[in-house]
Amino acid sequence: MSSSEDGGRAKRKAKAASLVPSRNRLPISNERKNIIAAVQKARALVIVGETGSGKTTQLPQFLFECGLAKKGMIAITQPRRVAASSIARRVAEEMGVKLGNEVGYSVRFDDKTTQSTKIKYMTDGMLLRELLSDKLLSKYSVIILDEAHERTLRTDVLFGMVKAIQKVRSDLKIIVMSATLDAARFAEYFDGAETLYIPGRQFPVRVYNAIERQEDYVDAALVATFQIHVDEDPGDILVFLTGQEEIETVEKLLKEHMHELPPNASQLLICPLFASQPAAQQQKVFAPAPPNTRKVILSTNVAETSITISGIRYIVDTGMAKVRAFNPKLGIESLAVVPISKASALQRLGRAGREAPGVCYRLYTEDGFSSLANVSEPEILRCNLANVLLTLKASGVENIMEFDFLDRPPRASLIRALEHLFALRALNSKGELTPEGHKMAGFPVDPSLAKVLIHSKALNCTAEVISIISMLSVETVFFSPHDKREAANEAKRKFVSHDGDHITLLNVMRGYQAVSGDKDWCIQNYINGRAIKNAMDIRNQLASFCEQGGISPTASAGSEVEPILQCFLQGFFQNIASLQMDGSYQTFSGKQVCHIHPSSVLFQKRMPLIMYHELVQTSRQYVRNVSSISLPWLQNTGSHYFNAANSSA
Ligand code: ADP
Ligand code: MG
Repeated sequence: MSSSEDGGRAKRKAKAASLVPSRNRLPISNERKNIIAAVQKARALVIVGETGSGKTTQLPQFLFECGLAKKGMIAITQPRRVAASSIARRVAEEMGVKLGNEVGYSVRFDDKTTQSTKIKYMTDGMLLRELLSDKLLSKYSVIILDEAHERTLRTDVLFGMVKAIQKVRSDLKIIVMSATLDAARFAEYFDGAETLYIPGRQFPVRVYNAIERQEDYVDAALVATFQIHVDEDPGDILVFLTGQEEIETVEKLLKEHMHELPPNASQLLICPLFASQPAAQQQKVFAPAPPNTRKVILSTNVAETSITISGIRYIVDTGMAKVRAFNPKLGIESLAVVPISKASALQRLGRAGREAPGVCYRLYTEDGFSSLANVSEPEILRCNLANVLLTLKASGVENIMEFDFLDRPPRASLIRALEHLFALRALNSKGELTPEGHKMAGFPVDPSLAKVLIHSKALNCTAEVISIISMLSVETVFFSPHDKREAANEAKRKFVSHDGDHITLLNVMRGYQAVSGDKDWCIQNYINGRAIKNAMDIRNQLASFCEQGGISPTASAGSEVEPILQCFLQGFFQNIASLQMDGSYQTFSGKQVCHIHPSSVLFQKRMPLIMYHELVQTSRQYVRNVSSISLPWLQNTGSHYFNAANSSA
């Protein structure tokens, strides 16, 4: 072994040793013996402990140290990719090993594991996907379903799958971890599994509610942040926002107004935290602020229970979160910004009192708080099930209606999802998986997009389709600073296609590829370099998935546009809307009124017929990523869907 490798190893070991004291102070470390004894005894175990008590980072290490990873890996699922990757990185540091060796992670489009990985952090979605090729999850000796209180769709489905697997594999251990006390449901589900409670510590947190209702919570968050910074003692601020775009807006506004601070005020260091962030950026939020500087973390829900950051004394709670919602009657899925639950509000305020007394500024009134629901509704009761049902079918679950759900989704949602899969021809009329459905399940994207990818082979436009899908998988790549909006619009004009956003996105990706990802090109063209690099990584992954599936990723339609849009229509024939007299649109399925989002290149263009990628509910119903299509194209697509829809109407 070379001396530089030795040096690297020595450095890692030294770093790990320096982390031991703070790890020993975590509440979970007192429970080490009890936990190990309980895991060795039981086949299923529920562990409840306050956020930050050390469940996610420490427990897998306990199990590893007592030899539970000898016969198979330890999997720890997370609802969010940013949590999986950043926590794996931390645990590798704590163990003094290279990330990807003993400790690794696997999230969609990013796999950091090797043959020697024993502790594997992964999104719940990735573990579900592994079921496709390994029905008994035979690589694992322990499955930890973490953040179970979040009740995400995929974790909920995993509950049913691992319970079924355990009936066949008596050696498999299942651990459910939750940050909230109502864990009885989980214990009951696993036939009365033992529940271990980790006593937490919590300092008091003072709460200030808004006196009156805030019209614009983004603006209110900005004001509150500056107020805390000017008036309050040192300590970092955590601001809960709903998504990347909003976070980037607030980041810009904070930077713009920073020079208005009094000259003696300390500095502000702004750290965004959201899902599709590159790893290096993510790690920045954990680093302590430099002297005379206050850190402001602008985060999505991920900082509510999944990720704990030291040093936070102040919370700014907008009271909002972005969630998926699905209307099974209309078959419409949307991303909606909605009020959080009381349980979430309490978790958020708790983040300020981990190390010292803290303060929480709620940007909603006391009455507003009282009117919140107690807990959020499990995702499985309110979202589109098509994707997971396809995975279940492809993993050998034949009768979905009899699946052992923790909470049974509404019948209407199940039926709607099965109908959708039938319309995409993933299932036949008997509800059985078709060969095409099997293929679709293998792609790491929604069934509609998988359909598009598969169909691109026949239409000879795979290169374009994977470019567009990868651009649709990241939040917007167009950068539009407040003070340079005109210049940004001017720059965007070069890419705009009259056919709509799909081709516009393709033009941007082509431009980026032509200059081999040059950073200056991004700056000159007002393209968010971080987002498009991300899209490029996704593109490479999709290309290799296509290759594995026998689809050449370089097949190109050249300068032709029609085959590309026709290809998208194969998967999105249910997302069509037509222009109304008043300039609004009406969806074909469900007859919903919607409007083209102002970010679209077709905004106010009044194209008669459009296909949209998604429907977003904010102040009104918007469709985003929209392209113009022509009526005759519909005859080639999903006609059995329209026939069925018409005959049942
Ligand atoms: P729980 O799962 O019970 O909420 P965690 O195991 O996530 O608790 O957190 C335990 C401790 O590990 C916290 O103090 C947190 O600050 C620290 N920690 C977790 N991830 C990181 C990271 N990437 N960098 C630095 N510290 C981290
Ligand atoms: Mg945790």
